[in-house]
Amino acid sequence: MENNNPQFIPISKIVEEAQDIKTFYFEHSLNSKPGQFIMLWVPEHDQKPFSIAYDDGKSFGLTFFKRGPTTTKLFDMKVGERVGIEGPFGTSFSRKPDTHYIMVAGGYGAAPLGFLAESLLSPPAGGGDARRAEGVGVDFCVGARNKDLVLFKNRIEKIPNTKLHIATDDGSEGHKGYITDILSNLIDSAEKKVLVVTCGPELMEKKILNICNEKNTDCEISIERYMKCGVGICGQCAVDPIGICMCKEGPVVKRELANKITEFGKYHRDKSGKIIYF
Ligand SMILES: Cc1cc2nc3c(=O)[nH]c(=O)nc-3n(C[C@H](O)[C@H](O)[C@H](O)COP(=O)(O)OP(=O)(O)OC[C@H]3O[C@@H](n4cnc5c(N)ncnc54)[C@H](O)[C@@H]3O)c2cc1C
Repeated sequence: MENNNPQFIPISKIVEEAQDIKTFYFEHSLNSKPGQFIMLWVPEHDQKPFSIAYDDGKSFGLTFFKRGPTTTKLFDMKVGERVGIEGPFGTSFSRKPDTHYIMVAGGYGAAPLGFLAESLLSPPAGGGDARRAEGVGVDFCVGARNKDLVLFKNRIEKIPNTKLHIATDDGSEGHKGYITDILSNLIDSAEKKVLVVTCGPELMEKKILNICNEKNTDCEISIERYMKCGVGICGQCAVDPIGICMCKEGPVVKRELANKITEFGKYHRDKSGKIIYF
């Protein structure tokens, strides 16, 4: 059941994942689905969307990169301090039995995809959708600039039926180059129906969409746009040319819908609505 009421809740645990990357945990029942997000309000700062990185039905987690003013303020916060949350909002990744998932993550995209893999293969006892999906296997692909930025390696290695593939730009771990370099082979060698799911930098996601189009493979993509209200009212995250709001009809969209968003992989808009090319 969704609980969209704003809540003002204390941070219960903070984990430092890497330089400038932290996960905050909250003892709060969110009952979210993997791929959904919450709007997080940082007092005296701003409200921003964050993907749900972890949810066992009793507590949930969010993973942040320190980027601008709001996340810089978050980085200074301590256990016990309170933030506002609203949600969960938006669409989620599909949960399909008898499917081979190829998950491709870049940056903090490893967080929601880690939550997806866990919910399919090792659902926690307290989880909202605590059934294990039958006949599912996962290739979990993580791309990062270097080995220190590969997120959640230990977490993903613990998930049953899941094989981790790493690619780093500098070759310090795994394949040297882009994680998309290995995607075609993984699709071709899968023994059952494939679903590619991805969350990460948009140019990576666009390459993945192109590969899935060429191979006519099902694909679901989490598309980020600047979001203000989170519920499809303000229109800030409407995309060209179809005008759907990514906070409501996204962030997770299927291949067919992603193909209709012509700005995908080309440009997005900043908070004033100005077009910014990738
Ligand atoms: C659905 C969704 C899920 C998200 N999940 C996470 C998450 O799990 N972890 C996380 O760290 N961040 C996530 N973000 C981004 C987050 O909402 C903030 O925008 C980001 O953390 C920067 O916030 P800031 O106020 O610190 O910096 P800002 O000053 O707002 O931004 C710093 C820089 O990032 C750019 N930027 C901000 N938002 C976006 C955007 N949506 N798309 C492209 N560029 C942008 C700005 O133009 C600026 O250059 C998500 C965004 C969306 C839409």
